[in-house]
Amino acid sequence: MLRQHRAHSIVVWLICLLGLGLAASVRSDEQASGGHVNAQRLQETLEKLSEFGRNPEGGVTRLGFSEADLAAREYVLGLMRDAGLEVRVDAAGNIFGRRPAATPGPAAGAETLPVLLFGSHIDSVPQGGNFDGDAGSMSAIEVIRALNDHRVTTRHPLEVVIWTNEEGHHFGKGVFGSAAAAGLLGPEVLERRDDQGLTLADWLRRYGQDPAKFEQARIRPGAVAGYLELHIEQGAVLDQARIPIGVVEGIVGIQWWTCTATGFANHAGTTPMNRRQDALAAAARATLAVREEVRAESGRQVGTVGYLKVEPGARNIVPGRVEFPVELRDLEAAKIARIWARIEKRFAAIAREENVKIECAPLSSDAPARTDPAFQQAIRESAQSAGLATLDLPSGAGHDAQNVARFAPMGMIFVPSRGGISHSPREFTPWEEVANGAEVLYRTVLRLDARLNPEGKP
Ligand SMILES: [Zn+2]
Repeated sequence: MLRQHRAHSIVVWLICLLGLGLAASVRSDEQASGGHVNAQRLQETLEKLSEFGRNPEGGVTRLGFSEADLAAREYVLGLMRDAGLEVRVDAAGNIFGRRPAATPGPAAGAETLPVLLFGSHIDSVPQGGNFDGDAGSMSAIEVIRALNDHRVTTRHPLEVVIWTNEEGHHFGKGVFGSAAAAGLLGPEVLERRDDQGLTLADWLRRYGQDPAKFEQARIRPGAVAGYLELHIEQGAVLDQARIPIGVVEGIVGIQWWTCTATGFANHAGTTPMNRRQDALAAAARATLAVREEVRAESGRQVGTVGYLKVEPGARNIVPGRVEFPVELRDLEAAKIARIWARIEKRFAAIAREENVKIECAPLSSDAPARTDPAFQQAIRESAQSAGLATLDLPSGAGHDAQNVARFAPMGMIFVPSRGGISHSPREFTPWEEVANGAEVLYRTVLRLDARLNPEGKP
């Protein structure tokens, strides 16, 4: 609570300095009623952002590394500059907008603290919605505008970040920008090629970056005091419980494999059933085996086979080759490894029985990440001070925050998703609930700013 008093004394100091005329606009963080963020302004920027990559049926297709993403980034860069932020783009294309710390008075010792970072992403999945990533990104900028409106200064420099290619649909690498920041990617990832034959390096150049400097995107531990991300839940827990704010306990680990079943493509009329090497029959059995092994133990783990790419893909040919992905998620890395080991055994048995080859190659692996308990507490208190109820829950979706956890303590705020729908044009969070999240983000930023010491620990 000592730090809390300090925040108040900064507010008092500001009032004295700027004169009584401003007193009405400088509000204590502890005032329960009335928001600091401007809900109308937040809605307007979110609606404007939704025009980039908009689909006729609603929602957006704004893949990371695409023309739509590039145009949306220009819009966001403009918003950041309008909010007075010093903008820079790192070698992985991540956008940072900085608001300096308060200049210490002559009496105060020069306090140079690391940045307090908060933000999200603006890229989407194909046929995605208007809230995934966008809600947190626009709220982060709204927090800066609200701090400006209320002439609030902070001990830490503040930085808004928009991470590159979070969804990872393009180039098969999710949470790309934050993974680069965490030093998890080697330069070989830049050679990945898309359907048009362009490499990731080509796209980075189109984003104005020099791929040779890719490793400069790395952020060292200690450079960031803490990270906050506001995001829609993308599940139905908060919506069903009618609770406006989720305090995230941690982010599940996600592992991706790409598997190929290889049989023999042959005439569907003349190849007897007992002589077939049907890759699709094998892949279909493998798909069900994934589900069975994930269900074989209790817990909240999930596993998915999201598609089957069948070749040659004709009605009168026994399928010769099928590519399919396997995805596993859980808060415990050991559990993912255990389930995968069982799946591999099942695949080997199916391959023998179907007389095909099944091979799987790991594509990406994101370790589970726990949120910092002190950050959870700051979010809880901030919500309470705004009169908003909270619920603790894990995140079943991956987020950039999981990579940031490798170099800084982090916390996440969830707002409800109507009907638990996400990665869909029908994804929806009522405007006032987005504004609730932004208000909690505002208050949590100030709480952590007051509390965190230079080691990033409260
Ligand atoms: Zn997202």
